[in-house]
Amino acid sequence: MQKLQGIPVSPGVAIGEALVMGSEGFRIPRRFVERDAVEAELERFEKAVQASKEEILRNREQVREKLGDEYAAIFDAHLQMLLDRRLHDEVVEMIRDRHYSPEYAVSRVLRRYAKVFESLENSHLAERANDIVDIERRLLRNLLGRRREEIGQLTSPVLVLAHNLTPSETAALDPRFVRGFVTEVGGAGSHTAIVAGALEIPAVVGMGPFLREVSGGDLVIIDGDRGEVILQPDEATLEHYQRAVEANRSLAEQLAHLRDVSAETADGVRIELFGNIEFPHEVQHCLDRGADGVGLYRTEFLYMGTEGEPDEQVHFEAYRRVVEAMGDRPVVIRTFDLGADKVATSWRREDERNPFLGLRSIRMALRNLELFRTQLRAILRVSALGNVRIMFPLISTVIELRQAKMVLADVMEDLEESHIDFDRQIPVGMMVEVPSAVMMIDHFMPELDFVSVGTNDLVQYTLAVDRDNKEVASLYNAADPAVLKLIDMAVQSARRFKKPINVCGQMSSSTMFTMLLLGLGLRSLSVIPAAIPEIKRVCRSVSIPQCEEVAARALTLENARDVETLLKEELKKALPEPEAA
Ligand code: PEP
Ligand code: MG
Repeated sequence: MQKLQGIPVSPGVAIGEALVMGSEGFRIPRRFVERDAVEAELERFEKAVQASKEEILRNREQVREKLGDEYAAIFDAHLQMLLDRRLHDEVVEMIRDRHYSPEYAVSRVLRRYAKVFESLENSHLAERANDIVDIERRLLRNLLGRRREEIGQLTSPVLVLAHNLTPSETAALDPRFVRGFVTEVGGAGSHTAIVAGALEIPAVVGMGPFLREVSGGDLVIIDGDRGEVILQPDEATLEHYQRAVEANRSLAEQLAHLRDVSAETADGVRIELFGNIEFPHEVQHCLDRGADGVGLYRTEFLYMGTEGEPDEQVHFEAYRRVVEAMGDRPVVIRTFDLGADKVATSWRREDERNPFLGLRSIRMALRNLELFRTQLRAILRVSALGNVRIMFPLISTVIELRQAKMVLADVMEDLEESHIDFDRQIPVGMMVEVPSAVMMIDHFMPELDFVSVGTNDLVQYTLAVDRDNKEVASLYNAADPAVLKLIDMAVQSARRFKKPINVCGQMSSSTMFTMLLLGLGLRSLSVIPAAIPEIKRVCRSVSIPQCEEVAARALTLENARDVETLLKEELKKALPEPEAA
């Protein structure tokens, strides 16, 4: 058994078989083979060894021609390891005696050897571990060949363990079978984490290198509450976590009754709780939790995981599904926030050195007007069917907002000319997620119907901390007083201008921040749908003066840790154990 620590990004506990995806995305399809298939499987292994040998020889020849004998010798070492009798016999024995699949056996044996080499004092020998990993990959490639299965085509439940999962890969995961995931890289604000929330599965990111410790098919536990991952748990640990799964289930059942009561504070102030969604099917998650509407629909996921760009009808159908399901409740459709880590398949750009500061989001929309107009047409068309609002992401200057609004006005005119129905009074808002937008917020307000504070980006741009980088994850903290001051400024301005404001970043989904946000003056939060019952419970347990006092104290503090301590203590006081922990 091995216990590893990462960054928790999506709560809950999952127990199941590992599907390991190395940087090449291989998965080990299964662990065991039928008794009467053993001979055929052994033959498959021998063929893979043969094919790998031929590949290495070919590579050696090519390198020798280009670079000379000296470099070609590297391949001799590979060949020697590949054909090593002991290694070979160990794999064969696992297939023959234990009925392991060749993929699983190769992965187990070679990883064990790699670990032994890694642990050697002699750095030259330790480096040989990489050669072994290389051979493992080569053998797996040859074994899996065409049978390599994509993660989108799963047939049984798995926990995905990967080096990295891009938001589009995460979006392609089949939620029927993926019960949780863990990645070696990534930070708390990464969009991969956000998709985990959408799938409502436990997830841990930023684990650092650990994939060598685990083979496909191994039993794994993901604790998405604490950020722990347990490989090959012992009996006692397994039982402990099985009880945790049960406890989570019964807590969810206990909170289910809150679905039909409103989020009203103890002193009778109504708080609106909206859901954040990435995919149309999540509208059901919102309905199940009694959401007051959809406060953030991240439409960029429509562009990811597919080749080519979605046409107007694809947009329209997705939005219609959401809008019709929500009836007269508001649906805030955010125009696409592509770029940085959210990259559509057809849009990959390798030449940006700082993609989070680059051609992202509204900037990309204003540079690709046809793409932008296509989406705006679809949003406007769907506005005829329900209570739709439109929101622009990552606005950093007033000029940018005006440009976006001009394009919108232009598309409206086109629709009018074509006698296509839409809501002429559609409310237009923007995300406040760049410090410059907060600084200049009074200039934005008169031009807007509402604003939504995107703390995920606001934290990143205020503290200069990449939301997706595990190396600086400890600095990425929404509790930082600098962030609180910016939220406070935005709320004060919205009050002066009598404009609705909410917070839709991940912080609003954490019960730790609920009192603070209410105390700062927010009366509307947009959260991951699964968090609605818990947030509602907090709202119903506190009074506004109590929250205002907490917020006032938080604003005087000098660092994130003190703010967190205060918020945890106050939540604990307001909410009896055990859930307040
Ligand atoms: C945010 O930045 O807080 C936000 C809600 O947008 P996203 O997470 O999609 O960048
Ligand atoms: Mg954002």
